[in-house]
Amino acid sequence: GRAPRFHREFTQLQDGDGASSSSIRVMQWNILAQALGEGLDSFVQCPPEALSWSRRKYLILEEILTYRPHILCLQEVDHYYDTLQPVLAGLGYSSHFFPKPWSPCLDVEGNNGPDGCALFFDESRLEFLDSVNLRLSAMRIPTNQVAVVTILRCRSSGRCVCVAATHLKARSGWEWLRSAQGSDLLRHLQTLVQQHADDSADAQISDIPLLICGDFNAIPTEEVYRRFAASPLGLDSAYKRLSEDGSTEPEYTTWKIRPTGECCATLDYIWYSRDTLRVEAVLDMPTEEQIGPNRLPSFSYPSDHLSLVCDISFKENE
Ligand code: NDP
Ligand code: CA
Repeated sequence: GRAPRFHREFTQLQDGDGASSSSIRVMQWNILAQALGEGLDSFVQCPPEALSWSRRKYLILEEILTYRPHILCLQEVDHYYDTLQPVLAGLGYSSHFFPKPWSPCLDVEGNNGPDGCALFFDESRLEFLDSVNLRLSAMRIPTNQVAVVTILRCRSSGRCVCVAATHLKARSGWEWLRSAQGSDLLRHLQTLVQQHADDSADAQISDIPLLICGDFNAIPTEEVYRRFAASPLGLDSAYKRLSEDGSTEPEYTTWKIRPTGECCATLDYIWYSRDTLRVEAVLDMPTEEQIGPNRLPSFSYPSDHLSLVCDISFKENE
């Protein structure tokens, strides 16, 4: 049957200017590849009918259209060409897609092609400047993980932002690989933002602000997380702002039950340049009760990962 959608609300943050018309809404979401959900994931508590693409595609689009992000970063996209790209193009989004070189989707019978990262942006709010598809390396060896990077200019403020969507290596035992992939991404982004120094700020030439959205497959104590938090690029994680003390990540961004047991963890993040960007609002997480005893995915929600949505604005130039 059909279950109700989760009701989630935006938490407006103290230091924000309120729901300012100039803010840019960003969504980060691992949507669950159709081939993986049906073929490899073993979500034992999820009814098979809830995993059918014919149901899931509407729930995925409904989630996106509920929040109407100006920037949308997706992972595990294996229905880009036939669904997401054409539907979202019709709604005013431009996009870039980069499939994984050896997507595990290809091992599933009846697959719809490889999964990868996709980055969409609202053309009415943002102007395209540049885009790069990256295959992430670890100690100079190319890996199976990728990132899509796009440089955009806000049409109202004239300010630029460099956005990355990525999906790091999954599973335990690969902490070192995620750390190396994260470092490689940071290295690429540092070079990119320096090349595109923001000349729209009249007096000063400054580096372009960064937004890095991803399924990092890493909990906040992992090395790759610590590397991002301590990066000289000056990054902070937007969802920490939901917590009482403003410095604790949410309890979960994914919650699922496999034969090996329950997995409830924070693996997904929106990193932003704390000196040049401000988080105005953050969409709260559904409660354990809303998620329900069978966890995710479900008839209520099409992925095992929750979407992260926040409103970001440019800080004034000093
Ligand atoms: P990852 O380990 O990064 O995981 C791939 C996907 O599996 C992710 O989307 C991940 O989801 C999901 N996943 C994580 N944990 C589990 C689990 N316990 N059960 C089921 N799915 C899970 O994969 P790689 O990109 O490194 O690719 C590995 C696979 O790709 C191999 O198993 C092989 O099938 C294929 N491959 C094929 C090659 C070839 O030569 N043909 C070469 C390399 C890989 P999430 O991020 O949400 O956790
Ligand atoms: Ca997955």
